[in-house]
Amino acid sequence: MQNRMKFKVSPEIGFDVNNLRAFIEGKVPAIANGSCTYQIIKRSIDARGRTVTVPIEIELVEKGTAARGVKKIQMEADGQDKKKFVVIGAGPAGLYAALRILELGHLPVVLERGKDVQARRRDLAAINKENIVNPDSNYCFGEGGAGTYSDGKLYTRSKKRGSVQRILNSLHAHGAREEILFDAHPHIGTNKLPKLIEEIRQTILDHGGEVHFEAKVNGFIIKEGRAIGVETTKGKIEGAALLLATGHSARDIYRQLSQQKIYIEPKPFALGVRVEHDQNLIDKIQYHCKTDRGPFLPASSYALVHQTFSGNQQRGVFSFCMCPGGFIVPAATSPGEIVVNGMSPSRRDSEFANSGIVVAVNEQDFHQAGWNGPLAGMEFQEGIEQRAFEPGQGTQQAPAQRLGDFVQGKTSSSLLKTSYQPGLVSADLNSVLPEFVADSLKQGFQAFGKKMRGYLSNDAQIVATESRSSAPVKIPRDKETCEHVQIKGLFPCAEGAGYAGGIVSAAMDGEKCAEQMVALYGK
Ligand SMILES: Cc1cc2nc3c(=O)[nH]c(=O)nc-3n(C[C@H](O)[C@H](O)[C@H](O)COP(=O)(O)OP(=O)(O)OC[C@H]3O[C@@H](n4cnc5c(N)ncnc54)[C@H](O)[C@@H]3O)c2cc1C
Repeated sequence: MQNRMKFKVSPEIGFDVNNLRAFIEGKVPAIANGSCTYQIIKRSIDARGRTVTVPIEIELVEKGTAARGVKKIQMEADGQDKKKFVVIGAGPAGLYAALRILELGHLPVVLERGKDVQARRRDLAAINKENIVNPDSNYCFGEGGAGTYSDGKLYTRSKKRGSVQRILNSLHAHGAREEILFDAHPHIGTNKLPKLIEEIRQTILDHGGEVHFEAKVNGFIIKEGRAIGVETTKGKIEGAALLLATGHSARDIYRQLSQQKIYIEPKPFALGVRVEHDQNLIDKIQYHCKTDRGPFLPASSYALVHQTFSGNQQRGVFSFCMCPGGFIVPAATSPGEIVVNGMSPSRRDSEFANSGIVVAVNEQDFHQAGWNGPLAGMEFQEGIEQRAFEPGQGTQQAPAQRLGDFVQGKTSSSLLKTSYQPGLVSADLNSVLPEFVADSLKQGFQAFGKKMRGYLSNDAQIVATESRSSAPVKIPRDKETCEHVQIKGLFPCAEGAGYAGGIVSAAMDGEKCAEQMVALYGK
């Protein structure tokens, strides 16, 4: 029996379960007569031609064969001598590290500064409606980390860091739709993530792991060069080793590491703005449609990149975390700063398309701005976020400018409707962003306007600041063992350590560090 088959179908067939089933049954008599069944391996969108098509690949499966693996956890060992491992941070990295520690026969103790997903909702409402930023519970901190109220795009280019499929299977087993297993650009959506994160927590608890909320780590206990525990707001906690997965926004952790003379380094990252367009305009450009994308095609996205020369350097300007049919959200982690990010619900049905447009910044830039030492990048980043807070005069209103005006150097006399709930305030973003960043962005937007006709216009606006694209600090570790280069028993993990970017790559790095940690300290 031929195992795999490829088809190109219309969006009406490709994105409707019943139409697709009828189409496949029409093409494969063995499926129609019930002698075999099938599963979809891949679904993508091909919008290169005038007519948009949906390439589909299926695999024929013998009748009675078990469906795709749907296990929440696959125990590999159930040791008598279970050791406790401390996992700091309950983001994707911490949660997947905890699951892996359990699979390998040991016990994770997860410490999370923020609240559980439900309690966290109230703090998000307070940021959006009352301009109150709780430094321990916000869009970045709390159960599920920055991943919970994120967009939930699961596409990753870091395929070498681990098994993407393992993570996708596990997310599916914990409640994500089956489509994530075959879509070329899988997406969960912010409305579906909290329940899924709760399911992961339940799996950890069901297998003997511990999860402690409002347990903020504020010191590392080091004995003769080896990390043996942490000081927390709930007291001292010790374990066989520590996995540090506190994400890229835990500035107090970076400061604590520096204060305890635990080796860290400044790290290049990227910084800029979030641009917001009408989704309909982006659909018209991407799908070549005259009126709208119709009832079947999902909201379209884009990925843009351009090389510029600015501040005496060659620099990349690129789109980051594009959210079709989404919202811009306030992602500050402290009062007195403005940080924006983007997310979308699973249906991606808002009228807006937003994307980060960021410029690469490096150590030379930090020094020129007057910052030195391991925290230079973080201090540079913090300074810009604080400057962005000034136009809104104590609120979470973000400084914004119409895109055409920004490129022409004019302050906007009025702004457009926005998805950003705290509201926008008109400002000249040239006075918020460093000159070389503003200059690179202008060059970038001009180039993007040539690649996508209609993109560069005064019917779009930019909002500052998109500054948490990746960590501004690196916590160096051994390439093989993942153990910190200086402190034994400390495993710097995922985005906050500079080893991952995004939900899936952070989860994969969590698994990898857990495996190395158990291999070294689990006996
Ligand atoms: C609005 C938004 C949208 C996003 N959209 C996407 C997307 O679509 N796709 C994608 O791949 N990525 C997206 N991201 C990025 C993604 O969420 C992160 O890359 C990912 O969550 C990083 O995982 P992590 O586990 O390394 O760190 P984090 O998710 O940052 O988790 C770190 C955890 O550590 C906790 N912590 C910090 N300090 C302490 C302490 N002192 N003590 C105890 N706990 C502490 C924090 O509270 C947090 O829960 C988005 C992020 C945001 C904010």
